[in-house]
Amino acid sequence: MNDMLKNILLWLVIAAVLLTVFNNFNTTSETNRISYSEFVKEVQDGRIAKVIVDGYTISGTRSNGDSFDTVRPAASDPKLMDDLLNKNVVVEGRMPEQQSIWTQLLVASFPILLILAIFMFFMRQMQGGGGGKGGPMSFGKSKARLLPEDQIKTTFADVAGCDEAKEDTEELVDFLREPSKFQRLGGKIPRGILMCGPPGTGKTLLAKAIAGEAKVPFFTISGSDFVEMFVGVGASRVRDMFEQAKKHAPCIIFIDEIDAVGRNRGSGMGGGNDEREQTLNQLLVEMDGFEGNEGIIVIAATNRPDVLDPALLRPGRFDRQVTVGLPDIRGREQILKVHLRKVPCDDDVEPKNIARGTPGFSGADLANLVNEAALFAARSNRRLVNMEQLELAKDKILMGAERKTMVMNNEEKLNTAYHEAGHTIIGYLMPEHDPVYKVSIIPRGRALGVTMYLPEDDKYSVSKRGLESQVCSLYGGRIAEEMIHGFDGVSTGASNDIERATSIARNMVTKWGLSEKLGPFAYEEDDNSGGYISGPTGSKANYFSPETGKVIDAEVQDIINRCYETATRILHENRSKLDVMAEALMQYETIDAKQIKEIMDGKKPSAPEGWSDPSADSPDSGEEKPAPEAATEETVDASDVDGVSGEASRPAGE
Ligand code: ADP
Ligand code: ZN
Repeated sequence: MNDMLKNILLWLVIAAVLLTVFNNFNTTSETNRISYSEFVKEVQDGRIAKVIVDGYTISGTRSNGDSFDTVRPAASDPKLMDDLLNKNVVVEGRMPEQQSIWTQLLVASFPILLILAIFMFFMRQMQGGGGGKGGPMSFGKSKARLLPEDQIKTTFADVAGCDEAKEDTEELVDFLREPSKFQRLGGKIPRGILMCGPPGTGKTLLAKAIAGEAKVPFFTISGSDFVEMFVGVGASRVRDMFEQAKKHAPCIIFIDEIDAVGRNRGSGMGGGNDEREQTLNQLLVEMDGFEGNEGIIVIAATNRPDVLDPALLRPGRFDRQVTVGLPDIRGREQILKVHLRKVPCDDDVEPKNIARGTPGFSGADLANLVNEAALFAARSNRRLVNMEQLELAKDKILMGAERKTMVMNNEEKLNTAYHEAGHTIIGYLMPEHDPVYKVSIIPRGRALGVTMYLPEDDKYSVSKRGLESQVCSLYGGRIAEEMIHGFDGVSTGASNDIERATSIARNMVTKWGLSEKLGPFAYEEDDNSGGYISGPTGSKANYFSPETGKVIDAEVQDIINRCYETATRILHENRSKLDVMAEALMQYETIDAKQIKEIMDGKKPSAPEGWSDPSADSPDSGEEKPAPEAATEETVDASDVDGVSGEASRPAGE
């Protein structure tokens, strides 16, 4: 970078000097220029002492010492020489000026030379042969970060809750420790491992732990680092990375988000992306290029193994797959223990209980939970983290941070209370619905209120009845609002509920085969990033005719109408409970499963734990309106319907 700048500067200085020199050359004599006829006259008058004839220009000095010059017209003047000699003027000749042509050429070609120099500079950088390190100009250098073996503190003990993945990778440690031993025995060691799993499940952590256990250097790079604007840069980065790795072998190369480069070639829009394709090709070449015995293992991570180019998965490349899934309840307990070890804990802390209340949490979520709890403890000047703070942290992660500063006026509060109570009552009464865990009208994140459901166990699939129950409870909020204000008084707060309900209903029909009329067919794909035909990324690939499309729409509407009716009926039947619950929410702002059960049993709800009566210093609700972006309301549901496709999803929430 610096060299480059210096070079350019040097050239600019040279150019400036050259230009001024030439300018002077042309202008100095300009002041004394006389016309040719004047010159001839002066010669005849005998006032000229000496002339130098140089092509068309004639310069010289007069007898009084003044210098002058003139330009000879193209028409030849044979008499001039005679005149000059007659008047005893000293005449000197000059060889035709050759230098000037060369210098002019140099000046003319200077910009081209400059461009060439810059171009060559970049070319050299792209080959990875440039001297300097890093810097924004070093396009071709890989951005891989090297972690030397003595700086890796991660071991297998830090990775919990994914025992199978750990087992699968243990032999790599032995290999990396002593590649030659395996070589002698002719053992075949995989060159590439593909770790598949949702984000935050510890793929990076596991790869690092392998390096830590084997005490070898660890290179990390993200797939998206390879993708650059300029064609060829990614490929040279791949080359550079493998070159560096060879110098440090045995070692591990970890490529995060490999799907950024490794997507199926020839898919996507516009007939593929040259840059990405070249990068991918280079990666394949490099992976074929080194022998297993060099002691380099490439570990790649992705949460979309389905979109990868099949060439990547061929033998000799990423031929071994390790699945790192979301932890189950036992796994969560172990992960919590790993992270709780790092903070001072009270005796009452029960990792098992928290593990039970956090289905769908990834390792990263759990690490975050412990961290938040430690922050809560610090904020309240405690020395130890106890169960209360862990619960608070869990709520914060599940439902978003409370927005204490946002003041709702009473009317909005009441509206939100009825809305959430509506969700809650339907959720409570519908079959196969996750139990309600907490309801709150304290604004959190972007939501005005939250009704949170938590499944009792880890859930991997939902039945048709369960899905319909979810659609019903999603509409519960809006219906409750309608019951107290009439249709004209309904707020926009239900937009997110409506969106989610519609999407569940549509997926039931087009993906999960839950419509009797349409049968078990896939009519829509998630999106086409899996290398399917048509459309830009993110759009849906459809597999149906316009006629079927109409039937699909009718079926979706049918599900929604049925659910809406059911929910309306249930809420009308439970009108008194709805009122009691809304009142309780107005009073306590947050109630949990215990109070909900009391209300549903027709009792008066008790005060929630830790609730103190604030009526002493009557908190008058201000006139302020909530921030406009807060106009959405959300129901956070830890058992999101994505669970149907196999894996329980992460808890929703902002
Ligand atoms: P991924 O690469 O799968 O997206 P990471 O490995 O980056 O996830 O995980 C992020 C953080 O979450 C880790 O640094 C660690 O603190 C925590 N974490 C994730 N999974 C686990 C696990 N299985 N055991 C312990 N901690 C974990
Ligand atoms: Zn709602």
